[in-house]
Parts: sequence; structure tokens; C-alpha cells
Amino acid sequence: MKAKIVLLPGDGIGPEVTQAAKAAFDAIAQRFGHDFLISQALMGGAAIDATGEPLPAATLAACQEADAVFLGAVGGPKWDKSEKRPEQGLLAIRKALGLYANLRPAVTHPALYDASPIKADRLKDVDIMVARELTGGIYFGEKQEGSEAAWDRCAYSAEEIDRVLHQAARLARSRRGKVTMVDKANVLATSRLWRRRTEAVFAEHYPDLELEFLLVDAAAMHLLSRPASFDVLVTENLFGDILTDEAAMLVGSLGMLPSASLGDSGPGLFEPCHGSAPDIAGQDKANPFAAMLSAAMLLELGLGLGEEAQVLKDAVYACLEARQCTADLGGKLGTQGATAAVLARIL
Ligand code: ATP
Ligand code: MG
Repeated sequence: MKAKIVLLPGDGIGPEVTQAAKAAFDAIAQRFGHDFLISQALMGGAAIDATGEPLPAATLAACQEADAVFLGAVGGPKWDKSEKRPEQGLLAIRKALGLYANLRPAVTHPALYDASPIKADRLKDVDIMVARELTGGIYFGEKQEGSEAAWDRCAYSAEEIDRVLHQAARLARSRRGKVTMVDKANVLATSRLWRRRTEAVFAEHYPDLELEFLLVDAAAMHLLSRPASFDVLVTENLFGDILTDEAAMLVGSLGMLPSASLGDSGPGLFEPCHGSAPDIAGQDKANPFAAMLSAAMLLELGLGLGEEAQVLKDAVYACLEARQCTADLGGKLGTQGATAAVLARIL
């Protein structure tokens, strides 16, 4: 197939891990006979330095024409005091592309059980996909900030809720067929709307799926006590922010966490969960696996290439098992060595 992929390397270790993702796309294209047209554009601090803007118009235009967008990482101390901030570019592109669903898988692996704070027997077969609503709720509501009092408004429309429920349900159908919806319906009006919409949407469109409701406080406990029982977990913005970090701790390493942000039409944005790690930038130390797993999410969810994504994921996990990895995962390889080890298993 033909596909246009835009790379936004960004700052810090962003360019190094983006290079690893690009190498993975090239290897997959070669093995499966695809024609990926891969281009690169400025984003974040690198874009501020070159153009004064964290998301230049030319970058946005290139992304809007793409089939999928890959982002390395943005930000760093260099821009801490600058008038425009690299992170503004990320918020702006999410908004411009209408990316309302943030997906973060948490998949455990025996090679990392020791690195997780959770007991090994509970980590077996954990494979969770958290679908977090990304553009609504309390983060984007009206705010009032005074010295003696303040408030934040949390609002959701049925439309905002339904579209992320559909994303979650479609994912569950391609996985193990279970959706857990997390809310605080005993206290919050928005949560009661989430619950009513979930019941209605699943009864009408997804009666085949197993549906579970959990209050967010219970969900926080159950993620630690019975993580293997979750398949897709769908929730609103604030709860999702907190629960994705909690689920990440199951995995045991920031270096193995990919993410995807999707909208209805148009390209999705795929990026590793880690930041720009300025402390190790430019030293061939960055773990490229989170970026390569994000590349796999791009293949599967962005381009519909499930088999190709599986080949890439298998290659990454085989390297982890063989300890062909960077120091943060207990290996001895640099960024380039670990990337080459994955590529060797694809080609
Ligand atoms: P942000 O604010 O952008 O989320 P952060 O400063 O909170 O970023 P990171 O930039 O992700 O966090 O870095 C946190 C720590 O993890 C740092 O010590 C960094 O070196 C390390 N780290 C992050 N990503 C990687 C990676 N891919 N490989 C190795 N170490 C990493
Ligand atoms: Mg930071």
C-alpha cells in the first residue's frame, strides 16, 4: 500500500527515537512491499528556534495531508523561559487534527516483572488499553481563579462522550471483547451522563461486548489488584490522565510505553509516552523501544496494517527477552544498537 507518514522529531531525544521509528517503517515497507512516503517537519522547541512558532503553519499543513503523524518528543530547559513554549505545539496540533481519544496500552512482559512495583504473579498476561477522552472535561472548562476561592467547570456533551465510546468499543472488538467504563457516577453529573450514554451506545451498537462499570476510586485499586482482568478501559479526561500513569507503572519502564491520539477522520498522532529526556539527549543512550512500539500503533491504528504491526512488536519483545536493549532496561546497547537489533529481526 501507499501511505504518507510525517515525522515530527522535536527536541531532546526526540530526533534519536524518531530515527528508530523511521528505520522501523523502512524495514516494514521493505519486508511487506509497501510504499511509505516519509517526510519530516519542525515541531516544538526546534520549530521555535527556526521559525518562532512551536507549530509552524507548514508543519500543520503537512500533517493534515498525511495518513499518519509520528512525534518524537518536545520541550526542554532551553525553552523554559521563552515566550512561546514547545508544549503549546502539541496542544495546538491535537486541537487542529481533532484528536479526542488518547490510547495508551499497558502490556507487561516477564523480562520487566522485577522492574514493576507490583507482585509478579499479578502481572502475568496484563494487556490493557486505556482510552482517555482528551479534549473535554474539567481541563478545558471555564475557570475562575482568585486568591480566596477558585473553581473549574467540568462539562461533557453526549456527542463528546459517544465518539470516544465508539473508539473504545471498536478497539475491544479487535481485542478480547471487554470494555470497562470508569466514572464517579455516585457524585458527578457528568459521570451520570457518561454512564447513561455508555448503556445506550453499547445496547444499540455493541451488545456482543462485555461491559463493566467501575467508580474511579475502585478502578484505581482494581488496576493494582487484578490488572489482568482489564481489556479496554474507557474514561473521561481527568480520570484518564491519572489512571494511564497508574497503568504505566504496571509495565515497569517508561521506555516501553507507546501512545496514539485519534480523531474521527484525518491522521492520528503517534508518540512515545516519555518526554524529551534532555539529560541523555545526543548520547546514544535513549531507549528506542517506546518509539518503535508507537510506530507499531501507527501501522495498526493509523494505516490498518495489523500483521505488520505485530511483526514489529514481536521484534521489539524478542530483543527485550534477549536483553538486546538499552541500559534503562538492563541491557548494554545504545540507541542505534538496540534499533539495529530490532531491524535484524524484521528483515
Ligand atoms: P516531560 O515533562 O516531557 O513529560 P519529563 O522530564 O517528565 O518529560 P522524561 O523526559 O520522560 O520526563 O524523562 C524522565 C526520566 O526518564 C529522565 O531521567 C530520562 O532520562 C528518562 N528517560 C525518558 N525517556 C527515556 C528513554 N527513551 N530512554 C531512556 N531513558 C529515558
Ligand atoms: Mg519535563
